[in-house]
Amino acid sequence: MDFLDVPTVLKVSALFNLMAALAWLTLAQLFRIAPRAGRLMAAAHLARIVSQGCGDCLAGWPAPARQAVPEFALLGCVLLLLLALRRMLRSRQRPRDIAWIAGLGAAGIAAGLASGSGLAPQLASTVAVTVLGLMAVREVWRGIGDRLSAVVRIGTTLPFALLALLAFVHGAELLLVPGWEAHVLEGRLPTAARAVLWFVVTAAITLSLIALMIWRLIMRIQHLTHRDPLTGALNRRAFERALADGQAQLQRGRGFALVMIDIDHFKQINDRHGHPAGDAALQHCVRVWQAGLREIDCLGRLGGEEFCALLPLALPGDLATATVVAERLRASLAAQPLHWQGSELPLTASFGVALPVVGDAQGEVGLARADAELYRAKTEGRNRVCVALHLGGLGASS
Ligand code: GH3
Ligand code: MG
Ligand code: MG
Repeated sequence: MDFLDVPTVLKVSALFNLMAALAWLTLAQLFRIAPRAGRLMAAAHLARIVSQGCGDCLAGWPAPARQAVPEFALLGCVLLLLLALRRMLRSRQRPRDIAWIAGLGAAGIAAGLASGSGLAPQLASTVAVTVLGLMAVREVWRGIGDRLSAVVRIGTTLPFALLALLAFVHGAELLLVPGWEAHVLEGRLPTAARAVLWFVVTAAITLSLIALMIWRLIMRIQHLTHRDPLTGALNRRAFERALADGQAQLQRGRGFALVMIDIDHFKQINDRHGHPAGDAALQHCVRVWQAGLREIDCLGRLGGEEFCALLPLALPGDLATATVVAERLRASLAAQPLHWQGSELPLTASFGVALPVVGDAQGEVGLARADAELYRAKTEGRNRVCVALHLGGLGASS
């Protein structure tokens, strides 16, 4: 790579980091897109500029300061990057583990500087960066999970693995190549290949973060367009799409059940305790029911205080399991009153269970069948589950 001029590569890298910092700040401050993660990323890019070295620009500084600046800056850069990642992936984990590793790394650098060793501070920062890089790999890998394709998952994680690998190789060089630590101490520039490699890894990490931000935005938009804003249940449109998908799966032998739900005497809650109490009751019901459903089940708010659960069945036609689930939802709501302004408001709901069959248009027929059972549950006294045992025929109540 003799054709590459190293100071130019470093300048390009610094300019890239500066532009990236400005871009993250603009997204965070002006557009309110991932604001906390964006500010952390901006700070990480600025720390990267400081850490990448600048040849003899610190020439007049005392030796310990010349050594301290890049080591602390690199550690700070990776620390900020990891904090940004946690924010971007909405991890609930507290950053205590990150703080410990970074704290130990900083203590190691400080102790090394105090002892006058050339090697120890570099080794301490390299070990800490390697560990933080591996933590970033785990963070991204787990944060994406199986919600994106394997290719995207690997591609997004790879730059962080490269960061950990580069830091590890640097640590190995420090230990195995005699006098290697003098490179930094004497303010020597990296080789062109090394400078380019670090620049590529920095740019790849930035691209990964941008991909994660776009993914987060898409998820947010999906949430806004698919979910009922009050309760978080699927809205009618999204539920109807899930129903149509379920209906299409019926032809392939995969069955599902529909459970229509209507809260009993809901109007009384609004009338006696006010509309906010009614809203809180709706949220409470959805919380209770979601807790009793599996991740593959869908709960939709069809309107007002009317909901429907779509339960994929392991055995097509397994009405008994669907009835057990509906009964569980009924009993759990009856057992958990809403706590509202110091008093307990008892809540119950009525349930109608039915199985859609092949040939039902878009699932609407199955929905009507479950609705008929719900109506029967209401007329038979509410707070009960009625089941359509025969298609369109007689039902049974429990
Ligand atoms: P039943 O047991 O027969 O189902 O009686 P009900 O009172 O639950 O049924 P009704 O259909 O008479 O009343 C439904 C009420 O739900 C009327 C409407 O004001 C209220 N409602 C609908 N949407 C909302 C909402 O988003 N928030 C609140 N607070 N109330 C709502
Ligand atoms: Mg009602
Ligand atoms: Mg109703």
